[in-house]
Amino acid sequence: MSQRAFLYNLQFIDNQIDKILDRIASIDTKINSNQEIVESENILKSIQAKFNLKKAEISELESQSNILSKILLQNNNALYDGKIKNPKELQSVEDEGISLNKRIKNLEDRIFDMMLENELIEKELNNQMEIHQTLSRNKKNEIDELNSEKLILIESLDKLRIEKSPIEKQIKNELLEKYAMLRETRSKMAVAVISENACSACGNIITPAEIQKIKSPIDEYYCQICKRILYYN
Ligand SMILES: [Zn+2]
Repeated sequence: MSQRAFLYNLQFIDNQIDKILDRIASIDTKINSNQEIVESENILKSIQAKFNLKKAEISELESQSNILSKILLQNNNALYDGKIKNPKELQSVEDEGISLNKRIKNLEDRIFDMMLENELIEKELNNQMEIHQTLSRNKKNEIDELNSEKLILIESLDKLRIEKSPIEKQIKNELLEKYAMLRETRSKMAVAVISENACSACGNIITPAEIQKIKSPIDEYYCQICKRILYYN
């Protein structure tokens, strides 16, 4: 086999290796991207915070109402235990009782409204929890699938590298260096085959005399236009 035939085979393997490496890189990106989950988690946290705040407000109003109820109880006791004789004083205690009742009723109305509001927030919270759980479950399944695909790719990669090694050993070092440089600068294609009497990479027409040379076992032959190594397959 000529040097160029070995290079051609080497490029065939390198192309497969590159394809696998690209796929592994895109798998890693997918595995590490969890923007959707983070966003849903943030929404969940903000609804939870809203719910907790409303709950705290309700509980604050409840404790205010409890305090007022205790005062009202004392007030009623004072009113009916007969210890207060002065009519003016009695009237003032009675007025205070009316005012306390009003305030308690007002607080209870507010508590009721806020509880209704918080029921809606709780529904929203449960909805978002379900969404978040579904997203997390789907993401986990996706990661599992991607990881098993990655394992298979890594196995193929190992096989290709084992296949590549004896081919590389057949090629002169300086030619390997030229090949690497060409692949780097020419869209991963260092070796171009002749197809319909032209360079398959750039379309440069090759004369029959040139084709004879390309078919011969000489080590190096380059396309005059694109400067790739030409090979007749
Ligand atoms: Zn060319």
